[in-house]
Amino acid sequence: MSADAVHGAQTDYLDRYGHALLQVFGTPQLVLTHGQGCEVYDADGRCYLDLLGGIAVNALGHAHPSLVAAITEQAGRALHVSNFFTTPAQVELAEKLLSLAQAPQGSAVFFTNSGTEATEAAVKLSRRTGRRRLIAAQGGFHGRSTGALALTHKEAYREPFAPLIGDVTFVAYNDIAALQAVFADDGDEIAALVLEPIQGEAGVIPASSAYLRAARELCTAHGALLVFDEVQTGVARTGSWFAHQPSGVQPDAMTLAKGLAGGVPIGALMTYGPQVTGLLGAGQHGSTFGGNPLACAAALAVLRTIETDHLMDNALQISEKIRGAVLGLRHPGIAEVRGRGLLLGIGLTDDRAPQLAAALLADGIIVNAPNPRTLRLVPPLILTAEQVDRFVQSLHSHLDPADEEQKDISSRRQGPS
Ligand SMILES: *Cc1c(COP(=O)(O)O)cnc(C)c1O
Repeated sequence: MSADAVHGAQTDYLDRYGHALLQVFGTPQLVLTHGQGCEVYDADGRCYLDLLGGIAVNALGHAHPSLVAAITEQAGRALHVSNFFTTPAQVELAEKLLSLAQAPQGSAVFFTNSGTEATEAAVKLSRRTGRRRLIAAQGGFHGRSTGALALTHKEAYREPFAPLIGDVTFVAYNDIAALQAVFADDGDEIAALVLEPIQGEAGVIPASSAYLRAARELCTAHGALLVFDEVQTGVARTGSWFAHQPSGVQPDAMTLAKGLAGGVPIGALMTYGPQVTGLLGAGQHGSTFGGNPLACAAALAVLRTIETDHLMDNALQISEKIRGAVLGLRHPGIAEVRGRGLLLGIGLTDDRAPQLAAALLADGIIVNAPNPRTLRLVPPLILTAEQVDRFVQSLHSHLDPADEEQKDISSRRQGPS
């Protein structure tokens, strides 16, 4: 960070943050005031290229005119009416999601305010099967509330709050044999298998279509619910409306949140078919804010804009551009580019992701390092080719280590292989 920034308005807010906010997030990197498109500004007026998009939330970037207009219009009509009543926006959004998900007759939507609440709804749904055992994947992330936390693999997140709801087994991700083994062992007691089609927080790890199909077959054979957590992968991010769709597999339930309303808090649980939908009856679940018209109007505007502006095509094209440009550097520090659409993980050959993220930030580019060997890009779906060039140039300039010995190695390996 530059010397002026250190003495600017940001320092003041960060100091006040330290005295006013619970410290669960540590110290924020920046104080952001506003944005436009894929760019965002800090309290000292510095502009950043935002390749994190609020962690896969700002699907339309910042201050998108169609989203601003929809929110403004809805705010002028009704912000909230309670779930004793419904609104046109709520009904239209539920219908739209069912149609995009290609969900069969008798499917339904329950709206929440966050991803973790969508997971909670899925856990409660699974309990109504009369079974308790839950299967989740190693590396999986499903939220921080206590039910969702029980399904979240990272020990450091769970341990301080033990005991959580019991009977959760973690299996190796994208490993068909491991799934078969867990179902072979008391498979008829499994209430649900909960999986991300591409693991996000783990560092952008995709599951194969064969794995998702095996999960479907095992759940069907044993009467367990197959739940896809598409909180991060869903809503066009991976170049299809939902990341599981190219596999042809239909889940029993799906959770959504992050990008759905472009930054307005929202989440959803979708239940597929009348049998699963019938598991939760009147009075068995609820939410004060869930499905409020503001969030639903925002989500409708996001979905419409993705369609009218062909943003799934853009996500796929820009994804190829990033992949080609990053791999085209032929740099020995880069092992691979994982993921689909605009959910990408740049896999490094060493533990430099945090330092690289810091160097990029100093250059005015926001990315994140979900683990020491991965840079994650989850930018707005409106990202342009020029913005990709800016990122790749900056990445390239910081990849070459200051250390001369390593520089030698990289120049030797630079040529075509
Ligand atoms: C972010 C995330 C969640 C939790 O969502 P919150 O809105 O933070 O509660 C759950 N599952 C996945 C896959 C996520 O990426």
